Amino acid sequence: MKFIKKFDHYISAIFIITIIVIIATSYFTFKEFFAANNKKQQEAVMPLFSLITSEIIRPLTVSQYMASDPFLLDYIQQDELDNKVIFNYITSISDRFNTMSFIAIEKHLLLIDSTNKTTDLSGQDAEWYHRLKVIDKEQFTDFGNAENPHLFFDVKMMNEQREFLGFIGLAIDLDYFASKFASFKKRFGFELYFVDEDNNITLSSNQIMKTTSHHRREAVVNINELDWYKQYQSQQKKAHEGLVTTGIFDTISSDLIISQMPIKELNWRVFIVAPPADEQGEYWLLFIPKLIIFLLVSFALYSIFALCIFNFTSSVVKDSETDYLTQLPNRSYIHWKYSQLHQEHDHVSVIIADVDNFKVINDTYGHLFGDDVLKVIAQKLSENLRSIDLTGRWGGEEFILLLPDTDAKQAQEIIDRIRRNIANIPFSPSSTSKKFNVTVSFGISESSLADVSLQDILAKADQALYRAKTNGRNQVVVHLE
Ligand code: GH3
Ligand code: MG
Ligand code: MG
Repeated sequence: MKFIKKFDHYISAIFIITIIVIIATSYFTFKEFFAANNKKQQEAVMPLFSLITSEIIRPLTVSQYMASDPFLLDYIQQDELDNKVIFNYITSISDRFNTMSFIAIEKHLLLIDSTNKTTDLSGQDAEWYHRLKVIDKEQFTDFGNAENPHLFFDVKMMNEQREFLGFIGLAIDLDYFASKFASFKKRFGFELYFVDEDNNITLSSNQIMKTTSHHRREAVVNINELDWYKQYQSQQKKAHEGLVTTGIFDTISSDLIISQMPIKELNWRVFIVAPPADEQGEYWLLFIPKLIIFLLVSFALYSIFALCIFNFTSSVVKDSETDYLTQLPNRSYIHWKYSQLHQEHDHVSVIIADVDNFKVINDTYGHLFGDDVLKVIAQKLSENLRSIDLTGRWGGEEFILLLPDTDAKQAQEIIDRIRRNIANIPFSPSSTSKKFNVTVSFGISESSLADVSLQDILAKADQALYRAKTNGRNQVVVHLE
């Protein structure tokens, strides 16, 4: 009974748990999907890595090769130079690698590039030459050509005596890089940053970083100034303290994924900075409407389900508490009702009613008629009572009445009125048969509701009923202490 009363609560709980489990499962599925996607995204970075390697490292190696070509080194040390020979040499290389190439010859203070431009190195236009020449390094990467910026790979040429002969190298058009970066950025949504050994950004897909002049020295951005890099650094530190594991793909602060790759040949590093997939609004745009639809459908289903359950349980509960023949509350309900009384009342009069000589009625007119008699009596017993009072069928031809806050004297008056009403009902099994009356005997016991069981009160009421029976029936007897 208790279980049935709480049945709808259990169902609601199960339903809510189910919804939570489904939401949690789909959430984690999405998370996994995002993670997989992040990985996929990072894998997409791989071709970019190789592209960078081949586009940057190959020109550098070619430059190094040219700088060590013994025939060229011999030729540029001669007193007389044929510019055409030099031009043919460098254009054969630049044509092959689709870049620009140049040579700067110390002996003749002459710069020739693959556009067939010659420059006097003693002039104003050769600031870089004099700047790099004195630095004790073999190779440089430098930016030049303000109108059409290029990344220059300058490699020193030396003779066997380690004397400086000039520079030779290739230059890559930065606009070419920019367009490559732009297509990757469009496809995968990440930014690229190239940084040199001093952490200065040399190349970047980020427009604000894109340099247009070799006077860029003042505009150089150091990567340490960027917020994401600061976070990345502190994350790396933590990783070294063993708090976070890092691999080639480092996820930081859940708002960016950062991948790092060294370009050893140049002592550079490349950073690929991307928002994680789950931060990319479109994924949540997929998830949230589906979640809303799911919740609405679940809620609608739940409402229908709850209504069915409610109707079902209330009818089950009602049936389980009602006597089928008389439609009065049954014994089980009387017990429950009595257990609740003490919450609002402090005393009660309990009455047992027993139909007199009912066996004779059954024997004389049959069971079915007996049933009809019981129904009429049940009806009369519950008439004109207060809403707090209760009449129930105890079993057989016995009924119980609970009259809270009613003393035995008041109860006796009420019950005696009912007894007389019943005794005056004319019964007849058929229209032709003789009318007769049915009487009922009553035993009353009044009790406080504090710690007194229904059994105890009934035992006393039963004693009173016994006296009513032995005294001749059709009467109300109060149990006296
Ligand atoms: P007393 O005045 O001493 O109470 O006599 P009584 O005949 O009423 O008492 P007894 O206990 O001898 O008989 C009760 C009868 O009630 C016996 C039983 O067959 C009958 N009875 C019990 N339940 C039902 C019922 O649901 N329908 C009908 N028709 N008879 C019932
Ligand atoms: Mg009886
Ligand atoms: Mg009886």
